[in-house]
Amino acid sequence: MARPQKDNKDTFAEIAVGLPVRKPFHYSIPPALKDKVEIGKRAWVPFGPRRLVGYITGFVDRPEVEGIKDIISVIDDESPVIDAELLALTKWIADYYHASWGEAIDAALPGPLKKGKIKAKPRHPLAEEEYEPTGNFKPTHEQDSALKSIRESISKGRNDVYLLHGITGSGKTEVYLQSIETALKLGKTAIVLVPEISLTPQAIERFKSRFGSVVAVLHSRLLESERFLEWKKLKEGTAKIAVGARSAIFAPVKNLGLIVIDEEHETSYKQDDAPRYNARDVAIERSRITGAAVILGSATPSIESYQKAAAGEYRLLKIAERIEKRALPKVDIIDMRQERLDAKEPKIFSRALEHAISQVMNRRGQVMLFMNRRGFSTFINCRKCGYVVTCRYCNVSMTYHFDTRRLNCHYCNYQADPPEKCPKCKSGDIRYFGIGTQKIESEAARLFPAARIARMDTDATAKRGSHGRILSEFKKHKIDILIGTQMIAKGHDFPRVTLVGVVSADTALSLPDFRASERTFNLLTQVAGRAGRGSEPGRVIVQTFSPNHYAIEKSIEHDYVGFFAEEIKFRKELNYPPFTHIVEIKLRGRKEERVIKAAHDLAAILSEAKGKPVEMVGPAPEFISKIKGQFRWNLLLKGEDPKAICGFIDKALDNLRGKSGLIITVDVDPMGL
Ligand code: ADP
Ligand code: ZN
Ligand code: ZN
Repeated sequence: MARPQKDNKDTFAEIAVGLPVRKPFHYSIPPALKDKVEIGKRAWVPFGPRRLVGYITGFVDRPEVEGIKDIISVIDDESPVIDAELLALTKWIADYYHASWGEAIDAALPGPLKKGKIKAKPRHPLAEEEYEPTGNFKPTHEQDSALKSIRESISKGRNDVYLLHGITGSGKTEVYLQSIETALKLGKTAIVLVPEISLTPQAIERFKSRFGSVVAVLHSRLLESERFLEWKKLKEGTAKIAVGARSAIFAPVKNLGLIVIDEEHETSYKQDDAPRYNARDVAIERSRITGAAVILGSATPSIESYQKAAAGEYRLLKIAERIEKRALPKVDIIDMRQERLDAKEPKIFSRALEHAISQVMNRRGQVMLFMNRRGFSTFINCRKCGYVVTCRYCNVSMTYHFDTRRLNCHYCNYQADPPEKCPKCKSGDIRYFGIGTQKIESEAARLFPAARIARMDTDATAKRGSHGRILSEFKKHKIDILIGTQMIAKGHDFPRVTLVGVVSADTALSLPDFRASERTFNLLTQVAGRAGRGSEPGRVIVQTFSPNHYAIEKSIEHDYVGFFAEEIKFRKELNYPPFTHIVEIKLRGRKEERVIKAAHDLAAILSEAKGKPVEMVGPAPEFISKIKGQFRWNLLLKGEDPKAICGFIDKALDNLRGKSGLIITVDVDPMGL
């Protein structure tokens, strides 16, 4: 429906749509809609043969292309759904993370709004739960001095960023709660981000029992319509505190006084799909726009944040003591190399761990065993020719699952029967190697036949609700030994757990990721925090083949600062973040030659460019070079300014985009490499 161009001002609307196209589109405004269009409102627009929800981001005198089409209708009658603050924030995300503005706005809005709806009524509205109101604790000396600084920033409307470094149980949450109280008293609002996995009913209850109905909760267990209602409460101002996972950073609150990011180091704050934003960094930008103060809390701060605190950009607040001065657990390292030399057969449990478990069982205590890998064995391997059973669609070994007696690919979920003979050399000498949670379970059952044992990993908790059920049974001591992946490491308080065993500390260390040490240190610290949360002191036993690695040594000593000192040297030497930014270009496709050629073409264009702001690494196949039938290559660009890097690669990418059978994505500040 092309219309003749008109040249009077404000005739054309600039509209962002949620597609990966980086420039905005222009539409003409029919006279009947003139009074309705407004920046931040949604509109239905024609897009090829389709009709899309678009976001009005501005007006232009003159459209960029011929054959401009009309806006079909304006969706929002009253006020715009996206205010100036969220427009600015999403624009920043689009620019920084190499996404389209429309994609960024999509990420900021609840589902029904993205689909062009105005209302969404949940069939069964959430009942308002009753909570026992709780008062503030009298702050400890350390909490008090942290609170003094934070309160001053909030009341002066300064966008100071605080890094609150304190171990689990040191009273960080109490600092958050009392800081939020200050913001509310000043008529301001607050946003609290918690990793999805830690957003348990107990965690939510702490906020609701303190602040009551002004708390709105946004998490993925809610139905879309329920989330939308919570969002509306915030937008209309009946709720003043948003508690939620990653996307709650877009909570539509006005007069923001404080943003809290609990467990700021968590990788789950980074979104996997476009826009690939990190909610922690978006929070810093939102505080810059609004003047809100920020608290980044962690027992194991990210190296990036701690470096900024060390450099004075953030303000470091430390809580060194646990509430009630509960002792930190004693951590023992078991050198599995020695263990292996002493025992004839490779063993899952070292003598020390086995002995410690039986002692706890005799005293009717509880044990948690931690393993970062699910399944029974890691891989199946032919003793004669070395053949390893790998997935047909992914370049990874298949994992044997004891319960189903089948092989399973953890990347694409392809399943197969284990071979009786080697598919390559027909030898019958096929062995199972490596250990997973299921194998630990069967070994524990063999060694401790009287113990009640349960396993918690994504296999065991695939059924909705079983996750919570296992935890509550463990809490009621209907289970003696709980075995699990990192799922069990977080956020739960089990006072009767006096022993935590880390069956292998090495799985995370061996990953080819520059954050491997950081991950390992975090994991071990977190796991150790599970022991001795009651009155009895806890004990932690860590089994490892690399007992002298600093990530393991420092975690035993509960020495974050010592770990940081080592890690930062390594980052500096190899020029990794925080000394540089990384932009990862990922190439995917079903035809291997095409992917390889495109990767090399791209590298050639980029390395020819003069005055480039970057250092290039690759192109290379990724660690797992094929998943679900798609070949995976990447190219890393390092440089100080991600925006400059993105500007630099844009032209080169334009040449490759649209080539058939090739998917190219850009990830700024990627989390897992
Ligand atoms: P963190 O968030 O660092 O894990 P929490 O804030 O959850 O720590 O505090 C740990 C426990 O100590 C909680 O049960 C909390 O209610 C309690 N607590 C926190 N601050 C105080 C205080 N000042 N006095 C007494 N108990 C406190
Ligand atoms: Zn073989
Ligand atoms: Zn697979």
